[in-house]
Parts: sequence; C-alpha cells; structure tokens
Amino acid sequence: MIYLDNAASTRLDDEVLAEMKPYLTEYYGNAQSQHSAGRACANALVAARDKIAKYIGCTPEEVYFVSGGTEAGNTALKGVCAIHKKGHLVLSAIEHASLAESAADMKKLGFDVTLVPPENDGAVSAESIANALREDTIFCSVMAANNETGVIQPVEEIGKICRDRGIFFYTDCVQSAGYARLPYEHADALGFSAHKFYGPKGTGVLVIKKGSKVFRLISGGMQEHGFRGGTVNTAAIVGMAAAYEKSCLSRENVNAQINGLRHKFVTRVLTEIEGTSLNGALDKTLPSIANISFDGCDGANLLVLLDLNGVCVSTGAACSAGAVAPSDTLTAMGCRLSQAKGAIRFSFGKHNTEEEIDLAVDLLKSAVQKIRKN
Ligand code: PLP
Repeated sequence: MIYLDNAASTRLDDEVLAEMKPYLTEYYGNAQSQHSAGRACANALVAARDKIAKYIGCTPEEVYFVSGGTEAGNTALKGVCAIHKKGHLVLSAIEHASLAESAADMKKLGFDVTLVPPENDGAVSAESIANALREDTIFCSVMAANNETGVIQPVEEIGKICRDRGIFFYTDCVQSAGYARLPYEHADALGFSAHKFYGPKGTGVLVIKKGSKVFRLISGGMQEHGFRGGTVNTAAIVGMAAAYEKSCLSRENVNAQINGLRHKFVTRVLTEIEGTSLNGALDKTLPSIANISFDGCDGANLLVLLDLNGVCVSTGAACSAGAVAPSDTLTAMGCRLSQAKGAIRFSFGKHNTEEEIDLAVDLLKSAVQKIRKN
C-alpha cells in the first residue's frame, strides 16, 4: 500500500506506541482515583500537560485534553455562544465541518452567521474578515491551514483584528500542528488532534487562553479542571504528548523531507500528465498537502481506481470522503465545477519514500489515462 492520505490520519509512531503501552497494561487505573494506581496516571497526565504546554508556549492550566479537533471546535464555538446567548458569528467559508456545522446548529438556535469566502489563492483575507465583523459579533473562526488545499491562512493578522475589537478568535490548528508553530499569541483558543502528527486517534487539545471565557460542553466529573467530565484516556494523552514533542523537535527535518517528496510528486504530475492544475500554490501551503485537479476525470472514480492499485488518497476532507458533491473549499476558491469534481488531495508523511512517490505517479498516470479513455 502507498499511503498518501496523511492529512486524514497518520501511522502511529513506533516510539510513541512504546510510551503508551505501559498505560494500557501496567498503569491502567483511573487518573481520578485516590490510590497509587490512580496517582500513577494522574502524574503521567501532569507530565503530558506540561510537555504540550511547553511546545505550544502556553501554561499547563490553559491546556484541556479533549477527544480531538472536532470536540475542540464544537466546545469553543458553542461554549462562546452559551456565554453570550445571542449574537453574530463570523467563520471562513472553508472551515472544517466541525466548525461549519456547529455554526449551522447555532443558527438554528437564533445566532446570526456570516461565512467569508477565500480569495482565488485559497487564503481568506484579513480585510474581508474585518469587513464581516459587526458590533454584535461574538466569535470568529479561521483555521491555521486548510485541510483540503493546505493553504496557510493569515491568522496572526485576523487574530489581532479580533483582539482589537474584543471578539473571541478561535483557530483550528488540526492540519498545522506538528508542521508549524501554533499561533497561540494571536488567538483566544485553538485546537488540534494527535492522529495528524503520528499520535493516537481520539485525543486532542483545546487551548483556552487565560481570561478568555468558554462555557463547558461536557458536564460530569471534575476532570480537566472541572471543564470536561469523563474518564481521561491516559495512554492516548501520554502518546499525544510524546508525538507532539517529537514532531516539534524534528519539524525542520521532517518538513524538508516531506516537502522534497511533494516537490518531486507535483513536478512529475504537472509535467507528465496533461490537463492537470494545482489548487493552492506550494509556497503558500503546508509541506504535507498537494491538491491537484485532473481535467476530464471524476475525482471519486480516480480515487477508486488508485485504491484498486494500492494507492490511498482523498477527494476532499477526510470526514466528507464518500460524498459525491464537489468540494466546498474548491468551489469557494472559484474553481470551475469540473475542476472541483476532478480534484484529488495527496498528503505526504514522514513514512513515505521516494520509491513510493515514483510508483504512485506511474500508477496515477495510467489511472488518469484509463478514465479519460472511457
Ligand atoms: N479540523 C480539520 C482542519 C481537520 O482536518 C479535521 C479532520 O480531518 C478536524 C478538524 C477534525 O479532527 P478529528 O476528526 O480528529 O476530531
């Protein structure tokens, strides 16, 4: 199998698995328990929180362990709405469904929502966000980098604009965590998932800056400073902290490695396969993602044919894979319908090799030829 869907999820790092194992087999207590088995887990959580805070540049008290980016986004958006009870929300039109659907839910409850489309290059301009803000705007969300194109968004600038206007700013860092420094200074809150940087699935972080107010979503026990009830998954959190530390320490090397693989892949595809175009310039995207349209091809068919040949890719956001509708992100960027329908997201990771890249391009060439002939 050639796995080019690392933006959907990554392979667990072997060293991370080794760090997690004792917390599944040996230290299996409940971190809330008063006895030694519980304390062993509680201590591991303290260490994991400290480690994650250190690499984000925030305080441990600002780190909340959640189930992933979906819960982080839902909590921030709905938790701010719960505090204000009414008002206006501004989101980029290319937010992940966890934010877009949360906003749609809040709209049903009476909140007003404005979606701001990106420019043709896939980035949402700070100016268009500023123009959408109103007196009654309570919340703004713009992701750090888009999950379909990898295009990096101007969140520092947008964060400053929101801060000056006293508007809560959330930034979804699910795709950029591990690949880029997180914009903690410029946001009230941010979130990410461990499984995008070689950590385990089902765990993530929501950072809420001290002084920024979010009403809790999950009531229950006193876990997570009383902010999120539910028995904590110690092994997963230990794994996330190990994976996050590793990805921060090896960022430069891994980014260079992945960027090299992507460069080779994209150059070969664009020069050797006619009727191809890149959605999102490579110098404006994360090193991990290349979104390419194939004229005269349906992305869904291409995905199936590649899969039959052992190559795993995606036609859009992982969570909406299988949906036949063209990508909202690409259409919002002004892509023609045929271009959006013929798009494939290739996403690279540290376990990919040059040989895989070459073979994937060869298989892609014949798959495209086959589809165009039919
Ligand atoms: N935000 C972005 C940008 C994503 O790409 C994803 C998942 O692909 C999510 C949020 C949701 O993450 P999770 O499914 O881990 O909760």
